[in-house]
Amino acid sequence: MATDYYAVLGVRRDASQDEIKKAFRRLARELHPDVNPDPKTQERFKEINAAYEVLSDPQKKQVYDLGGDPLSAAGGGGAGGFGAGFGGFSDIMDAFFGTASQRGPRSRTRRGQDAMIRLEVELDEAAFGTTKDIQVDTAVVCTTCEGEGAAPGTSAQTCDMCRGRGEVSQVTRSFLGQVMTSRPCPQCQGFGTVVPTPCPECAGDGRVRSRRTLTVKIPAGVDNGTRIQLAGEGEVGPGGGPAGDLYVEISERPHAVFQRRGDDLHCTVTLPMTAAALGTKIPLETLDGLEEVDIRPGTQSGQSIPLHQRGVTHLRGGGRGDLIVHVEVQTPSKLDAEQEELIRRLAKLRGEERASGHFAPGQQGLFSRLKDAFNGR
Ligand SMILES: [Zn+2]
Ligand SMILES: [Zn+2]
Repeated sequence: MATDYYAVLGVRRDASQDEIKKAFRRLARELHPDVNPDPKTQERFKEINAAYEVLSDPQKKQVYDLGGDPLSAAGGGGAGGFGAGFGGFSDIMDAFFGTASQRGPRSRTRRGQDAMIRLEVELDEAAFGTTKDIQVDTAVVCTTCEGEGAAPGTSAQTCDMCRGRGEVSQVTRSFLGQVMTSRPCPQCQGFGTVVPTPCPECAGDGRVRSRRTLTVKIPAGVDNGTRIQLAGEGEVGPGGGPAGDLYVEISERPHAVFQRRGDDLHCTVTLPMTAAALGTKIPLETLDGLEEVDIRPGTQSGQSIPLHQRGVTHLRGGGRGDLIVHVEVQTPSKLDAEQEELIRRLAKLRGEERASGHFAPGQQGLFSRLKDAFNGR
């Protein structure tokens, strides 16, 4: 026997068809003349083609396993010959271009594209969820031709140039000898059919643009950038193909009072020094209605007061974030004579007439307390 085809492909004698195919594809990629033009490699490339031609064909493989030479028996011109019915070339192209070996006409029907629409919601809608009607403008199936693309009363016809195959073949000469190559049929663009009288409504595309209203359920807890997927509500594909998905991207309008960070809400209340010192209750319109924020006597500037479970609902799994009220104490200014006298008396009573302040390393005041509040401490 002249050549050990199993050795050429580097597979065992009991290798499966799948293993043989994989080994061939790997070698074809490595040794393809476009990658590796030197004559030795080309010789080896021809060898692996011959080996694959034999081992991938059950009949030729049987002849070979029994000690025969299937290539000379087939009269294909020996190693490297690309005779009629030889499937090797398309496999080389597949190996090289990664195309699946799809032969025959391509379908006029294809899946449509996904579409995206932005939707603005208010903070309370994001916090609790809602339903909204949205207007979408997408391609839908043309009702005149029902996606076929042909005018009513007419139909698509088999292309006479490729006789429905969707591709035309051409014989070219190359280093491999005569090679048959195929390309999509120029008359039917590879569809295998032509539409002599396109539908007047959709110009043969099988779909038209249409505006419709959709009701979207917005789950509680959505945030800026959250995308809600509506399966099959996107663009219908050419030829009445299945529709892509529609993505609704949430954009949250800023709230007048609350700033959202994750599922927590933050706001600042500004208090006169006296209220902070004596304590008070301040009404606050929360997402859940009017509530009273309890300012304890002696509240410091920069302190934060959490209202638990008054934030945004967690998108996944129950519970809510907090509403955090940051306190800012205002020092009185523009004192009249009586006020100034009162504060001087207060300072005297507290032994603070010559207060010198207290220094400490770092930032122990407002900033660090704010930071702690943001970190949830
Ligand atoms: Zn139509
Ligand atoms: Zn054609």
